[in-house]
Amino acid sequence: MPCLLGYRSPLRWLLFSALLITAPLAAADRPELERVVLQLAWYHQFQFAGYYAAKHQGYFREAGFEVEIRHGGHDSYGRPIDPIEDVVFGRADFGVSRSDLLIYHSHGLPVVVLANIMQRSPLVFLTLEEHGFTRLEEVGERPISVTLPDVDTRLSAETLASFHRAGLDLAQLNNHTPSWKLEDLLDGTTQLMPGYLTDAPYFLEAFGAEPVTITPESYGIDFYGDLLFTRTSMLEDRPERVEAFRNAALRGWAYALDNVEEVAELITEYYPTRSPLYDIHFLHHEAEKLRSLMQPELIEIGYINPSRWENIADVYLELDMIEHYDLEGFLYQPPADPDGADLKRLGRWALGGSALLLLAIALASYLLMINRQLRHEVTRRHKAEEALRELAEKDGLTGIDNRRLFEEHLQQCFAYARRHKQPLTLIMFDVDHFKQVNDSHGHLAGDRVLVEIARITQQELRTEDHFARYGGEEFAVLLPNTDHGEALQVAERIWRANRQHQVTSDAGPIGYSLSLGVASLDESDRTPHDVVKRADERLYQAKRQGRDCYFGAADYAASK
Ligand code: GH3
Ligand code: MG
Ligand code: MG
Repeated sequence: MPCLLGYRSPLRWLLFSALLITAPLAAADRPELERVVLQLAWYHQFQFAGYYAAKHQGYFREAGFEVEIRHGGHDSYGRPIDPIEDVVFGRADFGVSRSDLLIYHSHGLPVVVLANIMQRSPLVFLTLEEHGFTRLEEVGERPISVTLPDVDTRLSAETLASFHRAGLDLAQLNNHTPSWKLEDLLDGTTQLMPGYLTDAPYFLEAFGAEPVTITPESYGIDFYGDLLFTRTSMLEDRPERVEAFRNAALRGWAYALDNVEEVAELITEYYPTRSPLYDIHFLHHEAEKLRSLMQPELIEIGYINPSRWENIADVYLELDMIEHYDLEGFLYQPPADPDGADLKRLGRWALGGSALLLLAIALASYLLMINRQLRHEVTRRHKAEEALRELAEKDGLTGIDNRRLFEEHLQQCFAYARRHKQPLTLIMFDVDHFKQVNDSHGHLAGDRVLVEIARITQQELRTEDHFARYGGEEFAVLLPNTDHGEALQVAERIWRANRQHQVTSDAGPIGYSLSLGVASLDESDRTPHDVVKRADERLYQAKRQGRDCYFGAADYAASK
């Protein structure tokens, strides 16, 4: 098949001549490069690969910037570098920070997130195999050193929230301020410390130890890692410049992930790493870990999901680290058509006169290509958004709704029931003596029991019922248009189906029972949480009555 744009093709030569005629027009149009500073969050390593790639591939230049990339950590006087402070006070223009940027924003600092680079947080808790534990709940009297809020707000929220969700009070533990030195873990000074998934396990293994990582994610804490940000005034005054910088940086990230070896070489050549330990092998390893935190196959690089930010804000609220939050103005919204700027430029070229006809042809094929790309992009985004929605609304273990989605349904059902004068009922239940299940059969078996409870219970519900994991081993079922008597029957079915069910495990079948509380919407209820409170109280009444029963009204109790 003859190629239209082949070497000898007349069309190719016509296009080439058109470019020759119009290129000077485009060059005259290009402004001087603008010098800006990008302040990194830590010392040079693959963690920031996309920015080095954007610079050395010329993406920043194409966008009109000469970018100075400054390392973070400590300056030459040993003072800690704070990218947020540097960007806010104008010592830098763009910066790399983490989810704690929201804390600063909520306290009034004018900062805005431009792109979420690490979709998952790299923070983990590290221990060693020899210490013999794999869950925070098992820490007991051991010496540990995890972040305290007044020492380091950057990482403490994830830490505090994880311990909180594990039902532990940090103040009661044998906890000391972390030194962040892996030696302390190796020599047993501490048996648990925070670290980055991207480097700490690698170095511990290099020292011959067997690291064990415990993730905040396994306690339902799901923060973002590194993000690109700027000060609000920068975005307000010059939105198109910020947009250009952001696009160039994201192009750099795509390049870095596709060309790991080349970019790792680039780092060793131009960006002195912190110590000889951070050599090329380490950079390759870091790149691999980073990819798992960015998930580029699943999520568009830089994607900002407002619901995930709401979840993070809720954790900060829960821990009293902020009093209120407002995501308006904090999350950058990229324009719908990222290629609009190119089209405008192309439009100016078309005015070049003699090349008009050729450009019309070029423009048509360009538009065709863009159209195809856009369609492809829309499908990709659609898939990524779907995957993110799952992440934000579903419980990772059981696959049923998570608490966030439950709260949303609760608000909606409450409003609907009120408006249409319909009944609404809530069943809350908790597994009896679940600690014993974990203690006797292990946490993995405990997890399996939770998955089975979700499955068995789901079979007793209608499609319009909302079934959610409310907390660790506590569940909630919201029954729209269901009166109290009917709900008691549903509670009975859930109670019976579960107590008759046994979960298979290596050590034989595991039986379990539930305690349930049932409450209905009352005319005097002011908020949906009045119903939750009542269902919860009744659940605890069921516990007090000896467990393995459901409790729906002061005069109604079904027992074993
Ligand atoms: P009670 O009958 O009073 O409810 O006794 P209990 O032992 O169930 O007590 P409690 O509800 O206070 O304890 C819940 C335990 O459930 C504590 C926690 O370790 C465990 N747990 C919470 N979430 C999970 C999880 O996702 N997987 C596993 N395996 N265990 C969990
Ligand atoms: Mg329980
Ligand atoms: Mg419980």
